[in-house]
Amino acid sequence: MQIFSNATFLSMDKKNQSFTVLIEDKGKICFLGNDIPKKYLGRKITDLDGLTVLPGFGDTHLHFISDSFFKAGLDLRGVRNLEELKQKINFYETHKKSKVTIGFGLSPHLLDQKILPTKSDLDKITSRPTFIVKYDGHAGVANTDFINLLGAGIKSTKGFINHTGQFYLDSFYKATDFASKQVSLITLIKSIFVNSKYLAQKGISFLHACEGVGFPYDLDITILKTLKFFLLQKISIFFQTTDLNKIKKRKFIRVGGCFETALDGCFGSLDAALTQSYQNDSNNFGNLYFSQERLNDFVLKAHLQNLQVAIHAIGDLAIEQAVNAFEYALRIKPRPDHRHIIIHACLLNDNLIKRIAHLNIHLAVQTAFLNWPEEPLDYLHSILGDRTQLILPLKKILDNQIIMANGSDAPCTNPDPIMGMHQACNHPVNEQSISVLDAIRMYTIWAARLGFEENTKGSLEVGKCCDLVILDKNPCTILKENIKDLVIKTVYIKGKTVYRADK
Ligand SMILES: [Zn+2]
Repeated sequence: MQIFSNATFLSMDKKNQSFTVLIEDKGKICFLGNDIPKKYLGRKITDLDGLTVLPGFGDTHLHFISDSFFKAGLDLRGVRNLEELKQKINFYETHKKSKVTIGFGLSPHLLDQKILPTKSDLDKITSRPTFIVKYDGHAGVANTDFINLLGAGIKSTKGFINHTGQFYLDSFYKATDFASKQVSLITLIKSIFVNSKYLAQKGISFLHACEGVGFPYDLDITILKTLKFFLLQKISIFFQTTDLNKIKKRKFIRVGGCFETALDGCFGSLDAALTQSYQNDSNNFGNLYFSQERLNDFVLKAHLQNLQVAIHAIGDLAIEQAVNAFEYALRIKPRPDHRHIIIHACLLNDNLIKRIAHLNIHLAVQTAFLNWPEEPLDYLHSILGDRTQLILPLKKILDNQIIMANGSDAPCTNPDPIMGMHQACNHPVNEQSISVLDAIRMYTIWAARLGFEENTKGSLEVGKCCDLVILDKNPCTILKENIKDLVIKTVYIKGKTVYRADK
């Protein structure tokens, strides 16, 4: 049992109450108020010295195993030219003894040359087999030695460009499958635990892990299903498959995510599906991976099995397709509290927002995309023109009473709820900025709602898990421009200290 006093506990409950005393017992909150009840007097008290406490954060969309896998490799985010790339790869190779080098996060939009390097660029840098995955996780490039390891079959796989050594579509997934086999299971498991600790440092106590990609035999799903009981966070698994037998066999209650259950690509690869063509190419409307008929069929079957369905849709055409499919399933079998989710939902228009609200579809968005170094706004403007203004209209979404939660889409962006809140309150389109409390709700009570977890997580209330994020300042009393500077001092999950800044 622990008694915390002298703090501002922002409960995020329905009445928006705040308290100065919180008592924890057996991992749960057993008291909230402003005076320590008599029966506890005389016991040890933890004085929080006027700090502010929020409920533990939820990340409602990330690829946890892929993120852990890439964290075991070379992080190439922020690289600006080939010289920097060379330095990073050479440094990594002198310090890490592995047969292959796997890099992640390289963004052509950040590079001077504005395009991905080619295999001959990489051949000049290293002779160790090297495979680099683009920041959006949809394409890659390898040097000749890595391509040779893949064997002759790769040359005939869809999406492989022989003369540049670049991998798109099926060839990309084949190469990723191969790359993931090069990392030992022990290394991967270690990295998963390291990653769980990293997320705890960022205040994250629950997450939605979208898995089932990049590993043969859905090994990532098996690993996570086994390990989740030993990790710090409460993990809800979303299996990214359209094969509902797999869901049944593993007794999952959710399905979906990106990859196999993605309706379109992304802005970074110019294949997010749009109703009007890309600004820089009047013939390109992006790609839809499903026909409406096939999507309706999949969503309906999943819906009839009482599953919660989450679907990746970035462009307005893909979002429309997702809305159509949910509408179709709900018309055949109404289910008031379905909590189906559209993931990303980047390019929204008024009509889509109205329909999403009407159908009570929930959104798992990433405000990190609003200020994403790997995909800068000037790049988005060059491909979308004025439509850039329509990306994630947070205020409008909330004005329409849509439930929306935040997340990182890691490994695309590094999970960082404080930064995510900052971006939600400092939207590039000023009138779409939201209040600090709503930005916090996107990581707490609304995040819990997205996973049907609002009875145990997401707010500080008696009976709920004692997940606490202790901050140096009160986010509600500082300038919204300074939210990014908030410092997490201590994090508790189920009453246990999982992170202390001073240790
Ligand atoms: Zn994703």
